[in-house]
This record gives sequence, structure tokens and C-alpha cells, in this order.
Amino acid sequence: MSASSLPPPAARRRFRRQLLAWYGANGRDLPWRKTDDPYHILVSEVMLQQTQVDRVLPKYHEWLAKYPSLEALAAARRTDVAKTWRPLGYNIRPRRLHAIARESVTRYGGQLPSDEETLLSFKGIGAYTAGAIRSFAFRQRAAILDTNVARVLFRVFIGSGDPKAHAMRRHLWAVSAALVPRKRVFDFNQALMDLGAMVCVARTPKCAVCPMTKSCCSAAELRQPASRNAAQESGPRNA
Ligand code: SF4
Repeated sequence: MSASSLPPPAARRRFRRQLLAWYGANGRDLPWRKTDDPYHILVSEVMLQQTQVDRVLPKYHEWLAKYPSLEALAAARRTDVAKTWRPLGYNIRPRRLHAIARESVTRYGGQLPSDEETLLSFKGIGAYTAGAIRSFAFRQRAAILDTNVARVLFRVFIGSGDPKAHAMRRHLWAVSAALVPRKRVFDFNQALMDLGAMVCVARTPKCAVCPMTKSCCSAAELRQPASRNAAQESGPRNA
């Protein structure tokens, strides 16, 4: 496959099948995977930006106990919201969540809309978060692309070029959109994120246990002896 073409239908089907089978056996049990509440999904996605799952888990429960709805969050005082967020850091995030809650109350009756254009009109909801809300909460056939997912798709289907270039990022969005299945969208997108977080990790991908190892463009290059992988740990991230 050239760097600018999309995976052919047979490759898409194989990727979906292998990914979902792997996810069935290995997917993580996370509380935001047991809800289709758009607000809960939003909270989890914002908390997970730049933050490890094990740090997010207790705060996710605390946050939802204190602010169980967008209305409750919208009614909270800004200082209280900032205090509740601690110690997650990147403190622009609680301010954005608060602003989204207030806007949803003012304009949408305390609900999050389901269409892409309206979601993107909220300050603080970008393409990734909109895709996550649409696919996880509303089960729409919507693509996602965060750092982990971009790394997986680049390695599996492209393998060469600059994964951070704008044109490549656009192309990876198109690849992600082409891969999303009609059914099991929720599982498929969650599985993509798990594969990037657990197996196709940035520095030392675990190609030997990866379901994509036979079809991945990068496996031969990245499946190096342990000594080589250890040397790469000190180098810059490649995705
Ligand atoms: S085979 Fe290796 S490089 Fe390819 S997706 Fe799996 S872990 Fe990533």
C-alpha cells in the first residue's frame, strides 16, 4: 500500500477481525467502558489526555460523585472545580470541562449533542474528543485518532515517512475512518486505543505478541532483539 492510499477492503476486514479478537481476550476493564452517558465519556476522555489510566481512575469516580451531571458541574464554582481536579495537572482541562458544561446547559438543556458539527462548536472539544463521544456514547460510525491510535495505524499500514507531518495526520484520519466498522464501533475504537497503550507502545512495541505482526508494515523493522530495543529506550519517541 502506498503512503497515500487507503487500506483495501480485504485488509480492512482482516484488521478489524484480528483487532476485535485480540480485544475480546485482552481489553482492559475500565469504568468508562460500562457507560454510554456522553458526559461520563467526556469526563474520561478529558482526564485521559496526557494522564495515565491508573491516575485517572480514582479521580473519575470522585468527579462523577461530586458532579454527577453537566448541570451539577455547570452550577459549581470555578474554584471548587479547580480544587476537585487536583492533582491531575494540565489545569486548562477542568476549565474547559466547566465551560462545556455551562454551554451545554445554556444552549442544549444540559445535554451533549450527538452531531459532529455541533460538538466541534464547543471550545475544548476537538476532532478526537468529538469522535470519542460519537462512537462511545452514541455508537455512531465515527473515527478517532489520538497519539496512540495514530502510532498503530502508521506502523501497520504505512511504515515510512514522517508520522507527525500534517499531511500524514490527515491521511491517518482517513485511514481510521476507512477502518471503522458498521457494527461494534465502540469495541473497535476502544480496541485501537488498547493496542496502542498496551502492545504497540511508543518505544518498545511488543510485536511478538501483537495480533498484527504478520501484516504490519513496521513489524520486521521494529521486532528487534532485546538489546537493540533497550538502546532505543534512550532515543526520542518515534510517534
Ligand atoms: S506488529 Fe509491532 S509495530 Fe506492528 S502494530 Fe503490532 S506492535 Fe505495533
